[in-house]
Amino acid sequence: MDARAQPRGQEGKGGGGDGGRYGVLLYYKYAEVPDAPALAAFYASHCRALALVGRVRVGPDGVNATLGGRMAALEKHVAEMSSNNLFEGTDFKLASCEGPVDERVARECGFTSLSVRLVKELVTLCSNPSLATPQITCAGRHLSASEFHSVLQNVGTALDSEAPAEKNEVVVLDARNVYETRIGKFHVPNVVTLDPEIRQYSDLPLWIDEHAEKLRGKSILMYCTGGIRCEMASAYIRSKGEGFENVFQLYGGIQRYLEQFPDGGYFEGKNFVFDHRISVGSLKENILGTCLLCGSSFDDYSSRCRCRHCRMLVLVCSTCQVDKILYLILPSLQHLNTSYLNMRFHDSICPLSFSFSSPGFH
Ligand SMILES: [Zn+2]
Ligand SMILES: [Zn+2]
Repeated sequence: MDARAQPRGQEGKGGGGDGGRYGVLLYYKYAEVPDAPALAAFYASHCRALALVGRVRVGPDGVNATLGGRMAALEKHVAEMSSNNLFEGTDFKLASCEGPVDERVARECGFTSLSVRLVKELVTLCSNPSLATPQITCAGRHLSASEFHSVLQNVGTALDSEAPAEKNEVVVLDARNVYETRIGKFHVPNVVTLDPEIRQYSDLPLWIDEHAEKLRGKSILMYCTGGIRCEMASAYIRSKGEGFENVFQLYGGIQRYLEQFPDGGYFEGKNFVFDHRISVGSLKENILGTCLLCGSSFDDYSSRCRCRHCRMLVLVCSTCQVDKILYLILPSLQHLNTSYLNMRFHDSICPLSFSFSSPGFH
């Protein structure tokens, strides 16, 4: 259950238009919102009128939206928001795709209804209240997908010709969570990709603090799904001062990169997305993930298996799902099943031992 990166409107070419087709729209905008409650109320009525589903977050610092619906309705929404000065320069990432076929998956992704919420800040990077939220104006420089690609292609070539040579050593930093990086990430020969393997975004500042030496003095190329997580995280890195100036972020995230490089470019595997598509792959169709229980090559999250303790999504292949259900039915056999006992922790970050949990089977 995944989709390929589909440039906007591509499948509609030559047909009767793609207004009847389904689509997913992602965008965010950091800007001072003069009247956030009024804007949220507008979103609620406007999106309902267009029969859009998904999530909209409106804060005093901007808007973050993931919306699904008919392409024609999404295009109307983009036209409406583009006419508002607040959204000047916004990158509206609209992709046509199949509509939701699995009601259960769509519901879990929040793609069966519309949720518009007023928030204090768009993304919460620092859950620790003693840490100051970095200034978004200090975020790293945006690189377009092709700029990002060419920097990786020309590693060793100066990003900043003014800087001393060692400052141009490139590291790639994935700002996403471990269940996302497990099925896809950038891989560039001779370049280190740092995968923090965090459970949630708010764990990133601590990882950055603890691994600052891996970042100091480097040219840091960050990426995430659509770009928003890198905005605040790159500002956080740059707030560390000297040695942390050269931070760059992939503008439009993996989504724009895969549209630009449909064969995947330097991105291996699939882009985890937070809508009914679950993941979006490239023409490469390679599988990075493995089944947690048997270790076979597997990257399909459509069963929505989660760790029963920490609720994190885990990869369990269809064969193991069947075996595990038997195991749950016959708990007295638990002591016989050494392979599961060896798999007590799905990740070192899980606070408790692993036990299988699938929606509809508890
Ligand atoms: Zn398996
Ligand atoms: Zn867990």
